[in-house]
Amino acid sequence: MLTFKDDAVTAVILGNMQDAGLPHAGCTCARCTAAFDNPARGLYVACLAIVDRREKRDTEGHGGGTELHRERAKVYLIDATPDIKFQLNLLAGALGPHPQRANRLRQPDGIFLTHAHMGHIGGLPQLSKEAMFVNGLPIYATPALCDLLQETRLWSPLVQELEFRPMPGGTAVNLGDGLVVTAVPVPHRDEWGVGTVAFHIQGPQKSLLYLPDIDAWEQWPAAEATLRSVDLALVDASFYSADELGGRPPVAHPLVTDTLTRFAHLADRLMLTHLNHTNPVLDRESAAATAVRQAGFRVAQIGDLFAL
Ligand SMILES: [Zn+2]
Ligand SMILES: [Zn+2]
Ligand SMILES: [Zn+2]
Repeated sequence: MLTFKDDAVTAVILGNMQDAGLPHAGCTCARCTAAFDNPARGLYVACLAIVDRREKRDTEGHGGGTELHRERAKVYLIDATPDIKFQLNLLAGALGPHPQRANRLRQPDGIFLTHAHMGHIGGLPQLSKEAMFVNGLPIYATPALCDLLQETRLWSPLVQELEFRPMPGGTAVNLGDGLVVTAVPVPHRDEWGVGTVAFHIQGPQKSLLYLPDIDAWEQWPAAEATLRSVDLALVDASFYSADELGGRPPVAHPLVTDTLTRFAHLADRLMLTHLNHTNPVLDRESAAATAVRQAGFRVAQIGDLFAL
């Protein structure tokens, strides 16, 4: 269980893997075999949480004066991954107990979805009545993704307990007291025409960009300016190099080797996430991981905290 500072807004990494996680279904590579043999060597699918534990100034306090009081923390997730049950459990301390049900956690205060691929929405059924059984949990996503999830017959009963709040690309949601989340459209494989966004999170002190999936840096002219404008950018690092593709045609993700050279001047603010199980950066001792460190980049790890 993770702990969070009082009187602060904190972002926390809850997963750093590509949609399929580690181990990867049907894979017999050494890394996946080790994780099948020992689940402690597994890693969760890419996910970020924002925990707001600031005191609120209550102008209608008893006695007429202005008083500070600590409300329960507000907890938001970015993406609902297939590992959501473990990721919510990491947040047990911040969520606190359910107001009515003994031995249950309170539901989060909102979930922001980047796009429709399985690693980013695959956890939504865990919120349905078969599982956590949330009540009116706000889900922020593009209008077309909100419609797709509610109108697809297979999914509609699974998302009945959710409250969809359409958030078109380019718009912002104000979470209060200087905490603002903005959806930033990015180019990414889109089978349903519902769009993909990154999220820009402006906290009271610092800003963060969460960009787990993008097809290619060249297809996003605003990349340089956007990455430069934030204090921390978590970016798509699915594949280290073409060596992982085993002769198959290039996939729609930038290669880490390209990211390291293209954004060498921004290394201090970039952090790699959404790693495929084949990515050698996952082994701290590998030449790839060493090259990433020497270039000044960091790799996101579960439990990493950032003050916003
Ligand atoms: Zn993904
Ligand atoms: Zn594998
Ligand atoms: Zn994707």
